[in-house]
Amino acid sequence: MSYFPADMPRPEPTIDEAAFWDYCSKRSLRFQSCAQCGTMRHPPIPMCYRCHSCETNYVEAPMEAEVYSYTVVRHESHPAVATKLPYVVAIVEFPKLPGVRLITNLTDIEPGEVKIGMRCSLWWDAIGDGMFVPRFRPLAQATA
Ligand SMILES: [Zn+2]
Repeated sequence: MSYFPADMPRPEPTIDEAAFWDYCSKRSLRFQSCAQCGTMRHPPIPMCYRCHSCETNYVEAPMEAEVYSYTVVRHESHPAVATKLPYVVAIVEFPKLPGVRLITNLTDIEPGEVKIGMRCSLWWDAIGDGMFVPRFRPLAQATA
């Protein structure tokens, strides 16, 4: 069962995001990097903003991240989230992948307990039709 109800709108990848979501469908969290200069970037874009190369690689992210920022959603922005309120939308960063920040959900925690810098662990939310969404939970509560 997915974290949000089945009527939650699904990601609709653009052509630039297709590779990112294809890796997610294999439960592999990978971020785009420039094949020429190594600059990491997310969300994916067609050209490096540093060296203008269009050649890309996808670098596997570590399973652990840190909360860079977050907000607690207390109002129903879509009917599908009504039963999940309040929930946490977080921006996480990966100390080993400078420049990459991911907007995600921090789950398995009371919203009042979230702290900037807290370590969290990736889990894959199966939302159906072979699609997986990367979400995070506090490291101390992480399970396989
Ligand atoms: Zn570059």
